[in-house]
Amino acid sequence: MTTVRTSCEQCGQIDMPAANIVLVRGERVTYKFTCPTCQIERIKPTDKKIIGLLEAAGVEWEQETPILLHPESPNPDAPLLTLNDLIDLHKELEEL
Ligand SMILES: [Zn+2]
Repeated sequence: MTTVRTSCEQCGQIDMPAANIVLVRGERVTYKFTCPTCQIERIKPTDKKIIGLLEAAGVEWEQETPILLHPESPNPDAPLLTLNDLIDLHKELEEL
């Protein structure tokens, strides 16, 4: 198994097995891995050279998951909740 030398913001230089690294194709290409020492997921920027090295080491590609709007996200076009709306709501709740 090929080992890739990279670094963790907290732990410094680390050697990661290529199998534990993923290239992520999103708006930008990054690569990510979970640091074996601090167990924190690190996301690193890439450039063509790094991508080439990682691919040569056998690192797999992954498509970045698009950020989906939560189904219960408020309608962005809905009128804003005003203080009066809150007072009305409060009154209605009291009448229950
Ligand atoms: Zn670390």
